[in-house]
Amino acid sequence: MTESTDLSASVVIVGSGMGGGTLAWGLAQRGIDCLVVERGYALPREPQNWDPRAVFVDRRYKPLEMWSTPDGGSFAPGVHYVVGGNTKVYGSSLPRLRESDFLERRFPSGVSPAWPFTYADLEPYYCDAEDLYRVHGDESDPFAPPRSRAYPYPALAQEPYIDDLLERLRAQGLHPGATSMGVDLREGGSCIRCGTCDGFPCQVWAKSDSEVCALRPAIDTGHVRLVEGVTVRRLESRGDRVIALEADRAGEPIRITGGVFVLSAGAANSAALLLRSASDERPQGLANATGLVGRNYMVHNNTHIAAVAPFRMNDVVFQKTAAVNDFYEDLGDGYAGGTLQLIGKVQGSMMKTHATTVPEFVLDRFADRSVEWLVMSEDIPDPQNRITLDARGGIVVQWRRTNYDRHEKLLATAKSIFRRAGYPAVFEQRFTIDMNSHMCGTAVGGSDRSTSVLDPWCRAHDVPNLFLVDSAFFPSSAAQNPAMTIAAQALRVAAEVNWSAAA
Ligand SMILES: Cc1cc2nc3c(=O)[nH]c(=O)nc-3n(C[C@H](O)[C@H](O)[C@H](O)COP(=O)(O)OP(=O)(O)OC[C@H]3O[C@@H](n4cnc5c(N)ncnc54)[C@H](O)[C@@H]3O)c2cc1C
Repeated sequence: MTESTDLSASVVIVGSGMGGGTLAWGLAQRGIDCLVVERGYALPREPQNWDPRAVFVDRRYKPLEMWSTPDGGSFAPGVHYVVGGNTKVYGSSLPRLRESDFLERRFPSGVSPAWPFTYADLEPYYCDAEDLYRVHGDESDPFAPPRSRAYPYPALAQEPYIDDLLERLRAQGLHPGATSMGVDLREGGSCIRCGTCDGFPCQVWAKSDSEVCALRPAIDTGHVRLVEGVTVRRLESRGDRVIALEADRAGEPIRITGGVFVLSAGAANSAALLLRSASDERPQGLANATGLVGRNYMVHNNTHIAAVAPFRMNDVVFQKTAAVNDFYEDLGDGYAGGTLQLIGKVQGSMMKTHATTVPEFVLDRFADRSVEWLVMSEDIPDPQNRITLDARGGIVVQWRRTNYDRHEKLLATAKSIFRRAGYPAVFEQRFTIDMNSHMCGTAVGGSDRSTSVLDPWCRAHDVPNLFLVDSAFFPSSAAQNPAMTIAAQALRVAAEVNWSAAA
């Protein structure tokens, strides 16, 4: 097995997505020597970045890997193994969670647990993360949480078609507000406000992804190194410490050593790595004394809807600019509902992955007259929803929907709103097991070591030189997009942990 000084550092981070890239930036600010180990390579900047057929039909930037289900089925997961991870294609909608998301929340069918820290604890780091990720926003959402610093950049302007739609919503007593967006529309910025942002890689690097905003600037400080094309297979431990990573590069085994190890491989892969690291000493897997690793897998209850006005053309270019949070805390029955968010404008060819038999020109005509939203509500942790491993170490996902009655109600509410707003037909696409881009919760954070895997700073209770800094630590999924909270927590962990003592 190869071992070299190139593959050793004070802090070794596995994964360069939102958690790993942001943590590397935070550690670089403290002058800490850091190695980021990434299984993928830098995503090429090429014309196909903006080609809907290449991205959605040919799945050019997705791995071939399949995950399985306990009944013997399999699916292609919503993951991207590239430098920057899923943020290379994400929709850059970067809202904060609400104050109430950090507290216990009761639903008719269960409980969403409290986080081991409050909104106030994370608030300064939300500000720093918004600066780092060039977030554009304003205070037009009356339901947004309090903030100690203004957004670094003004909200994206609404295009006339969207302005008209938002007026129709206001006429119903709703309060749509600007979406918090991470794109480079600063003065002189590189964003050209095109129609191929949400779900596409950005050819001009104007999307605020973790490679562009965090990892590359971290490398420029001289404190952070990146190795690409290295897949970590398992962690080697002795006593209560991780001593090395077993990995491979182009089929060759290599060993990576360090003082502190951080898994930022995404909720499923980080949990899988801990399970694969079982040893005689730790037959349940690493950091898994509670048996909680892999459990409480959450993905949000999400549905895309397309509201169609047959006689009104939608000429919008950049559609992801507004959200409705009127139902976030209360859907009119005393229980939280969730959020409605505009998403990037869907094109006919993008629907081809689902509407495989419908001719593309029909889909195009449909898309010309529709406006698309994401209806997002909270799922709740269930220990039976979990990541396990098959006999070859592959990922198995056991999942059933939780708290779905809230989602049904929010969806019905959304449909009636859009019908009243002049869209007689509203089509839906409910997210299925493969649409797991918001996955979280597989190694929950908490103060009580008998009910959590990580402490409030993402350190494994059982293994003091091991951290998980990605969406795995979420104790609940809330009902807002996760990336801003992953980034804020990564900056909090970078700033507040005593890294030399952790080694
Ligand atoms: C199409 C799409 C749109 C989205 N839109 C939004 C949005 O608008 N707003 C939002 O908040 N969120 C959005 N998300 C979700 C968001 O991207 C994720 O929540 C976030 O990136 C998760 O961060 P992470 O650090 O947990 O994992 P990731 O960002 O996925 O990073 C994990 C990294 O670890 C690497 N890795 C995995 N296993 C190994 C291994 N064994 N060895 C070495 N490296 C490994 C991967 O290659 C990857 O680079 C979207 C996601 C998708 C796919």
